[in-house]
Amino acid sequence: MSIFTKIEQQGHEQVNYFYDPETNLRAIIAIHSTVLGPSLGGCRMMQYSSDEDALTDVLRLSKGMTYKAAVAGLSLGGGKSVIIGDPKSDKSNELLESFGRFIEGLNGRYITAEDMGMAVDDMAIIKTQTNYVTGTSESLGGSGDPSDFTSYGTFIGIKAAVDFKLKKNNLKGLSIAVQGLGNVGLKLIDYLSKEDMTIYVNDVDSEKVEKCISQYGAIKVTDDELYELDIDIYSPCAIGATINNKTIEQLKCKIIAGAANNVLENYEKHGEMLINKGILYAPDYVINAGGLINIYNELNDYNRDKVYNQVETIYDTLMDIFSRSKTESIATNTISDMLAQTIINKKKKAKELSF
Ligand code: NAD
Repeated sequence: MSIFTKIEQQGHEQVNYFYDPETNLRAIIAIHSTVLGPSLGGCRMMQYSSDEDALTDVLRLSKGMTYKAAVAGLSLGGGKSVIIGDPKSDKSNELLESFGRFIEGLNGRYITAEDMGMAVDDMAIIKTQTNYVTGTSESLGGSGDPSDFTSYGTFIGIKAAVDFKLKKNNLKGLSIAVQGLGNVGLKLIDYLSKEDMTIYVNDVDSEKVEKCISQYGAIKVTDDELYELDIDIYSPCAIGATINNKTIEQLKCKIIAGAANNVLENYEKHGEMLINKGILYAPDYVINAGGLINIYNELNDYNRDKVYNQVETIYDTLMDIFSRSKTESIATNTISDMLAQTIINKKKKAKELSF
């Protein structure tokens, strides 16, 4: 498929390729939409198997950012960048500075942040060349690691799902399995542990599992056991595509609500299968928007308490999506895409009328 066909299919405004022979920087910045505001999205550095794979990834991720910002009610568009290379061996200060200059050249149409292969310290280096950076440390005027906001938003989203599906206004006595005990998963467990729940945990890193057992009295489950557990909530907070043909058949939970991105292996088909099986799915980009809400606030007058309050709006957003999904018998992820598209179209029309 030609590059232009790919771009046309997903409706991107602009795709930029950058190459700097001095530092060997090879990067793509995809701006999906600036209708609601400047495009914002993290920079992912990884060794893609081909340039085409890198393009596919950045196009998909940047479109996701547009929808995520729209549904979260932010004045932000969607963008994303990828740097092709191994973050362990190919990353250098010079490469990051070069990347910063490329961002600067886009005059604010794209604002970057951390994603896989990038850390808060890398943002500080990029910031020496451009101000279009979020997710920097507090000493540089940023807000540091955004994952607590993601965890808190996920916790709030779990409460909304329980309210809608189980008609309960608290989590007391319920059971949950959290997969992935990293930055987000561990803090989520900290919130859940105060709710008198039975908490099952799963991670490829056994040290993290042991920590959760001793600190929170959590129960360890293997990969095989995880999907078949007779529990109320499955909370994916590690990798994507854990909801697929095989696991949907195994699942006994009533709710899927976690922070991991791209939870559904096949977006349309698996969203549909979950609704048919009576499992309530909290769409990933809606429930995990806490981190984005936080870095968005870095662009304005930053106030940590205000950010937590704004993250709590995830509750009502999800309740709206759940009830529309029920009334219209349409998968929750499709409803949230429709919601995002409506918000964007409305703004587009208003902009056209004002010309
Ligand atoms: P992280 O890298 O800190 O943690 C991921 C954890 O998952 C690690 O403990 C890792 O050992 C574990 N893991 C990896 N593969 C696994 C597997 N196959 N089975 C079980 N455990 C496995 O990442 P994070 O920042 O906590 O993010 C978790 C998820 O949430 C990711 O999908 C990320 O894209 C998404 N997310 C994170 C944020 C954020 O603010 N950090 C925001 C939005 C979405």
